Amino acid sequence: MRSDRGGEGSYPRPLILVSRCLGFDRCRYDGAAIPAPFLERLSRFADCVTACPEMEIGLGVPRQPIRLVTAGGDEVRLVQPSSGLDLTERMEAFCRERAGNLGAVDGAVLKARSPSCGVSDTAIHAGADSSAILRRGPGLFGRAVLEAMEGRPVIDEGGLIDPGLRERFLVQVFTLARLRSAEDACRASGSASPLVSFHSSAGLLLAAADREAGRMLGGIVDEGGSPDALLPRYRRGLVRALAGPLRTGPCADSLTHAFVCFKERLAADEKALFLDSLEEFGSGRASMGPCRALIQSWMVRFPTPYLDDQIFLNPFPRALEGFEDSAGDGGR
Ligand code: SF4
Repeated sequence: MRSDRGGEGSYPRPLILVSRCLGFDRCRYDGAAIPAPFLERLSRFADCVTACPEMEIGLGVPRQPIRLVTAGGDEVRLVQPSSGLDLTERMEAFCRERAGNLGAVDGAVLKARSPSCGVSDTAIHAGADSSAILRRGPGLFGRAVLEAMEGRPVIDEGGLIDPGLRERFLVQVFTLARLRSAEDACRASGSASPLVSFHSSAGLLLAAADREAGRMLGGIVDEGGSPDALLPRYRRGLVRALAGPLRTGPCADSLTHAFVCFKERLAADEKALFLDSLEEFGSGRASMGPCRALIQSWMVRFPTPYLDDQIFLNPFPRALEGFEDSAGDGGR
C-alpha cells in the first residue's frame, strides 16, 4: 500500500528525453530558450536527459537558420540556405548514434516545428531558397526518436498544452517507470513476482485503456517462468495497450468499479455527488478528476488495499494535475 497517495514520494521517476531548448539551455539558433513551465514542474518528479542535435553536430549559437527541403519523393535534406551547406549526413550520423542509444527512456518531449526535433509538423520546403511549403513531417532527429521509441510516448511542447494529451503522456511515462522498477526487481530477485504485483496494480488502468490487451498481458503473467522470458513480451504488450487514447466509456466503467467498493458505506448524497460527476464526465462536460478525487477521499476513510495500489486512481503526482501552461511560441 502506498503511504503517500498522489504525493511526491510515491512514484518511480520516469526518464524523459527533452529537447534542450525547452527551458534547459539557450541553444536555439537565435540564442533563446523556450519557457517551459510544465517541464520545469515535471522535472521535480522525473529525470530529464536533454539533447540539442544542432549543437551536437557542431553548429554554434547563434547560427543561421536551417530547414528541410524536398529531394524528390519522400526524401528530405537538411540544408542551411545562407551558407549552402547540406547537413543531412552529419545529422543522420548523430541521429543513429543518439537515437540508437536511448536505453531506458520512458518518453520524449521534443520541440515542435524544428527541422531537427519536430515530431510531425516541420515545414518541408520546395527548395533551399523557396518559402513554399510542400508538406509537413517530422524533423530528422524527431523521426529517428519516433522509430527508436517503438511506441513509447513522444510528444511536443504544443501537445503538452492540451489537457487530454498531457494527461495521456503522464499516465504513459509514469506507468512505464513503474514497470521499469518492477523489471529491475524481477531481475534482481530472479522471480516474476514483482511483475505479478505490477500487473495487479495496472488492472483498472488496462480495463480503461484496452481490455483485450489487459487479458493478453494477464495470460503472459500466468504463464510464469523466468523473468528474462516474460519481461520483453509484457513490456511490448503494455506499451501497445497504453498507446491509444483513454476512452470515456471504459474509464467510466473503471471509476464505477472503484465506486462499487464503497457504495454500501456511503451516504445517499455522497453517492449522488459521485453519480452526478460521473454523468458530467461521461457527457464530456468535465474531466474524470472530480470522480477520482471523490474515490481518493473514500480510500482515506475506508482503507481498501486493492484500490490503494491501482495506478488508474493515482496515475501520477497530484502536483502535475490541472496545470495551465502558456508554453509554445509559434516559432521553430
Ligand atoms: S529544437 Fe532541437 S536542435 Fe533546435 S535548438 Fe531546440 S533542442 Fe536544439
